[in-house]
Amino acid sequence: MASGGPETSLRYHNRVVIVTGGTKGIGEAIVKVFVKNGATVVFCSKEEEASDLEAELRESRQGAAIYVSCDVTKEEDIQRLIEVAVKTYGQIDCLINNAGWHPPEQIIDNTSSQEFRDLLNLNLIGYFLTAKYALPYLRKTQGNIINISSLVGIIGQKHAIPYVATKGAVTAMTKAMAVDESRYNVRVNSISPGNIWTPLWEELSSHSTDPDAMILGASGSNGHS
Ligand code: NAP
Repeated sequence: MASGGPETSLRYHNRVVIVTGGTKGIGEAIVKVFVKNGATVVFCSKEEEASDLEAELRESRQGAAIYVSCDVTKEEDIQRLIEVAVKTYGQIDCLINNAGWHPPEQIIDNTSSQEFRDLLNLNLIGYFLTAKYALPYLRKTQGNIINISSLVGIIGQKHAIPYVATKGAVTAMTKAMAVDESRYNVRVNSISPGNIWTPLWEELSSHSTDPDAMILGASGSNGHS
């Protein structure tokens, strides 16, 4: 172990991690934990302006973080995100696909094909493309991908057909990617959280017909995102 101070002894010292949707909620927490453990994190959201989190983490004596504006529904943005990470830090060790959205409660009769396609683009194709462009570098480092899926992709959810479909697909895609990438020693896994109080969950519950039950996740009507 190197003797240059606490930074070099941290678990993720010299590891470069990309986190999509790292400015709020689950993604923000992931960015912070990686930095705390010594990683260099490249994180994004679709906002143009550098995030407050970047400034906050600039003071970190553990790892480092830079913000890149990237809308994961745009392939050219994703390519630029990967390019910035590699040009700046020379490698990628880990990709966390997290940027996603859950629309307010909707029944099939009121759901347009365009709304469904847009959500697939964000929640599924965005994960696929970020993995596609990061994999050439992850194969070099024998790194790993973690896709943030959702419990509802397994158990279903009321009034959320497109969202549930995208998350079920993320879980299935993860398995297929893991099979293909095992030959390069790249691990691909997904995490399927239940309810986590984030800005997304707050927004969802505010649109719900039964916010209290939704917040508690106990009604059986619409808990879990
Ligand atoms: P959140 O609070 O809304 O945060 C989402 C993050 O993604 C933000 O940083 C957001 O920033 C970014 N984002 C949204 N659209 C984007 C785009 N097109 N391009 C780039 N970044 C984008 O959501 P969260 O609750 O933390 O959820 C994060 C992930 O966990 C999602 O995939 C969600 O489906 C999943 N999940 C959440 C829960 C839960 O209970 N919260 C449960 C299971 C699974 P901007 O909007 O500013 O771009």
